[in-house]
Amino acid sequence: MNFSDMHIHLQDYKINCATDIINAAVKIGVNRFVCAATSEKDWQAVKDFALNKRIIPAFGIHPWYVGDVEQGWEQRLKNILEQNPQALVGECGLDGLKPDFELQKEVFDVHCRLAIELQRPLIVHAVKAVDALNCVLPDMPPRFMIHSFNGRSEHLRPIVQNGGYVSFSASILKNREGQKIIQNIPADRLLLETDGPYQGPIKGEEQTPMFLPELLAQIAKWKNQEEEELSAQIEVNAKEFIYGKQ
Ligand SMILES: [Zn+2]
Repeated sequence: MNFSDMHIHLQDYKINCATDIINAAVKIGVNRFVCAATSEKDWQAVKDFALNKRIIPAFGIHPWYVGDVEQGWEQRLKNILEQNPQALVGECGLDGLKPDFELQKEVFDVHCRLAIELQRPLIVHAVKAVDALNCVLPDMPPRFMIHSFNGRSEHLRPIVQNGGYVSFSASILKNREGQKIIQNIPADRLLLETDGPYQGPIKGEEQTPMFLPELLAQIAKWKNQEEEELSAQIEVNAKEFIYGKQ
């Protein structure tokens, strides 16, 4: 079976070595890794990882770090995206648990506009921000994903109706509505990710893409579908999200 890790922060591994992680994951069938930056400080590291063609870079400012933005960041983000035509936009978004929500909205809006202008997919972090997100969903670029979705099943409909993809990590396995959520996602919008090194199975342990087969197995069970068939569909979705419908 083949897998794509649609959201990982290779630059943030501290215990494990990112190169070892990639090599081990490739051996079990992980074909591509979307490596998401979270602040301007790590754009260079993400760019360096993308020298490996299996690694697709994403550049952006995570809502937790909007307080650190420095003047001119919008132009620098546009520049690095233009210099890296394979790059996605993100990680960006809205987080109601963190301060500066108004600033978060402004920074997120810049990302949305750039994604539309440069015709790139957008990676969205959305936590405790349902109302604000719903307001901007109609203005999203044609390809956007809500990463590590762990909300309620009723929050899915507006995302899907506005053309969004929904990506799941280990967190969905602990969601009380996990099965219902998975069953409500159209087959062509479902993506998988680890969000590594975060969201490890045990506190203090780093998550790695070696977890993807286990995640797929549980989701296949919930969908009452063969794992091979599901992984093939998710691979089609991953390619369509990254490269557009061919
Ligand atoms: Zn992330």
